[in-house]
Amino acid sequence: MAGSKDYYEILGVDKNASDEEIKKAYRKMAKKWHPDANPDNRKEAEEKFKEVGEAYATLSDPQKRKMYDQFGTSGPGGSGFGGFNGFSGFNGGTYTYSTGGFGFDDVVDDFVSSIFGGGFGRSARSAAANGPRKGNDLRYTVDISFEEAFTGTHKEIVINKNEKCDTCHGTGAKPGTSVQTCSVCHGTGKVKKNQSLAGFATIQTVVTCENCRGTGKVIPTPCETCKGKGTVRKQVKLNVEIPAGIDNDQTLVVQEKGEPGVNGGPYGDLYVTVRVKKSSIFTRNGDNVECTIPITITQATLGANIKIPTVTGEEEEFTIPDGTQSGTKFTLKNKGFKKIHSNTSGDLIFTVQVQTPKRLTKEQRDLFIELAKTMNEQPPVKKRGIFG
Ligand SMILES: [Zn+2]
Ligand SMILES: [Zn+2]
Repeated sequence: MAGSKDYYEILGVDKNASDEEIKKAYRKMAKKWHPDANPDNRKEAEEKFKEVGEAYATLSDPQKRKMYDQFGTSGPGGSGFGGFNGFSGFNGGTYTYSTGGFGFDDVVDDFVSSIFGGGFGRSARSAAANGPRKGNDLRYTVDISFEEAFTGTHKEIVINKNEKCDTCHGTGAKPGTSVQTCSVCHGTGKVKKNQSLAGFATIQTVVTCENCRGTGKVIPTPCETCKGKGTVRKQVKLNVEIPAGIDNDQTLVVQEKGEPGVNGGPYGDLYVTVRVKKSSIFTRNGDNVECTIPITITQATLGANIKIPTVTGEEEEFTIPDGTQSGTKFTLKNKGFKKIHSNTSGDLIFTVQVQTPKRLTKEQRDLFIELAKTMNEQPPVKKRGIFG
């Protein structure tokens, strides 16, 4: 699905492309695949055009791009690229392209800003003309354990947000009645005002229509549930999927789970920032997991089979060789964090720490004394180049 598409490839840019390069590539590709420019293979062009828009929507948003680079999707929360459900340009027939008067770029830009409701580009234009506007984005922070970050997890989160009113389905009008176009401004939301200056000149200014407060619409009989607002405050439960390998302070974008859009615009997004709690055993270093394993002086001297804890809770057997020095690092391959965009994982690197016994039984003490007699009282100073 969405995750398998290579957005960089779709736009024909490389992974390090700058914002400017992405924008340029997007314009080029949008022009190339614009359905009206491809009357002979319209079906394919529509698909491509949609893909190009999808790629740009993700790569032009720094946060979504970061997510995409890391997880192969900008929305691991499961809703995917829901933003495109509202994409009715071709099917709904609301989009028209005219060669007269407008440059091609202008048309494409307008089109895009009406889909994404002001996410980028010349959004101000559609926002000003009481057109569709994207709903508010919401933010949420979720705490997970080190182990959950390792394996991936689901978290149910509860957010208070504005939601579409069920009674009027977001229109604000009482069921059975309808929203009407403002008769004062005829739906534009703006009225011209003439002001006389000292009797000989008139200044005409455009101001927001007072009758509809700039919305271009009036609701003669407001919905009783939402008092005509079209939205009500709701507590919403969401199940957010947190992918394996997520790191502290990374943010997931759950598309279309923000607040409802205005005038038919898409929902805003929900940004979930993940805080990963520290582990008492492990630390993270990139995709690697690190820990310290205490071993006894005899294990270090004679070598031993030891059990190494891993993040999943399973233990791995490992043979340390005889003569192991304190501070030596060993690696368990592929026991680290899952790498994004790859089927491999980082490693588990453990450092052995030789524990010198502090309390000995009489028997142990005697053995150490016997041992000491077989060795020089003072270990020789290591000579570099001779003994290594
Ligand atoms: Zn009005
Ligand atoms: Zn309502």
